[in-house]
Amino acid sequence: NRQITLAARPNGAPTPNDFKLVESPVPTPSSGEILLRTLYLSLDPYMRGRMSDAKSYADPVGIGEVMVGGSICRVEVSNHADYVQGDLVVAFGGWQDYSVSDGVGVIKLDKAMPNPSYGLGVLGMPGLTAYMGLLDIGAPQVGETVVVAAATGAVGSLVGQIAKLKGCTVVGIAGGQEKCDYAVNELGFDACIDHRSTGLEEQLAQACPAGIDIYYENVGGKVFDAVLPLLNTKARVPLCGLISQYNATALPAGPDRIGLLMGNILVKRIKMQGFIVFDDYGHRYSEFQEAMVPWLMSGQIKYKEDKVLGLENAVSSFIGLLQGDNFGKLVVQVGPE
Ligand code: NDP
Repeated sequence: NRQITLAARPNGAPTPNDFKLVESPVPTPSSGEILLRTLYLSLDPYMRGRMSDAKSYADPVGIGEVMVGGSICRVEVSNHADYVQGDLVVAFGGWQDYSVSDGVGVIKLDKAMPNPSYGLGVLGMPGLTAYMGLLDIGAPQVGETVVVAAATGAVGSLVGQIAKLKGCTVVGIAGGQEKCDYAVNELGFDACIDHRSTGLEEQLAQACPAGIDIYYENVGGKVFDAVLPLLNTKARVPLCGLISQYNATALPAGPDRIGLLMGNILVKRIKMQGFIVFDDYGHRYSEFQEAMVPWLMSGQIKYKEDKVLGLENAVSSFIGLLQGDNFGKLVVQVGPE
C-alpha cells in the first residue's frame, strides 16, 4: 500500500521534501468496515491549509500521517451491511492506494453515471461549492455582471457557467491566454482577462462597463484589488477561497488598505460572506445534484478534468495547483477503473 505522508510543514510554497512516499501493508477491515481501493484522488487547494498547523476550521494533518483527500474508491472487501464488493463510492481515502472506512461520510456512486471521477468535481465538492456560493450567497439576477477568478478551474468554471444559465453577464479572470480562450469559446463566458497580463484594472473595467454585481472570490490578492473599485452598490461577494495567499508567510507589505475595504463595504453596502462548503451546505447536496446532473447530461454545463496518472505524481501536481499549472479539475488516477 503506497502512501504519501506529510514529512514537514512547508514554509511558503510546499516542496517535494515536505512529503514522503512510504509503503505499508494493505489494511484489514474489521467488522462493520470496508476496504477501499483508491481509483481517483482529488487534489484541492484546501490541502495546503491541512499542511499547516495554523488554527483553521479543520485539524491539520500530523507529521508522518497520510495526506487527507477526497477519493473515488472501489469496495474491495466489505464487512459492512450497506456495501458489497465492487461498489464505487466517494470517500475520504487520502493520498494512498488502500484505506479502511466504517462508512461514515461515504457516498455510493450511481453506477449508471459515466466518469466516476466526476464525483470529485462537477458532481462533488467543487460543484456544490460553486452552486451554493453563487446561488445562495451571490443570489444572481438576470442581467447582472458576475466576475469569477480561477475561471477555468474546478469551482470557477462552474460558477461562470451557472451564472450564464441564470442570465448574467460573466467575466472570468484566469492565468494565461489559453485558459482565457477556453473560458470564452468553450464555457461561453462573455470575456476573460489574463491576470498575468499588464493592465488588469483597465481591462477589467473595460469588460465590466456596468460595474460588478457579484464577485465570486477564489483568489484574493491583486485580483481583488482590481475588483474592489468596480463593485456596485449592493454587490455580493461570496468569499470562497484566497488561493493567492495560501503560500504567504506574512501579510503583504503596506499600505494598510483595511480602511479602504471597510469604507467600500459601508458606502456601497456590499455583502461579503465566507462559507465552508460541507459545514454550511452539506445538507443541500441532493438539491445541488438535482440541478447539476441534468445540466451536465444536456451539455449546458461543460466540465474539464486535468487527469494525472499515478499516485507518485500527486506531489508535483499539487505543488503545481498552487501555481496555476492545472487546467481544469485536478485528479490523480491512482488505480485502474
Ligand atoms: P482550481 O481548479 O481553480 O485550481 C486552482 C487555480 O487557482 C489555479 O489553476 C490558478 O488558476 C489559480 N491560482 C493559483 N495561484 C494563484 C495566484 N497566486 N493568483 C491567482 N490565481 C491563482 O481550484 P478549485 O476550483 O478547487 O478552488 C478554487 C478556490 O475555491 C480555491 O481558493 C479553494 O480554496 C476554494 N474552495 C473553497 C471551498 C469552500 O468551502 N470555501 C471549497 C472548494 C474550494 P489560474 O491559472 O487561472 O490563475
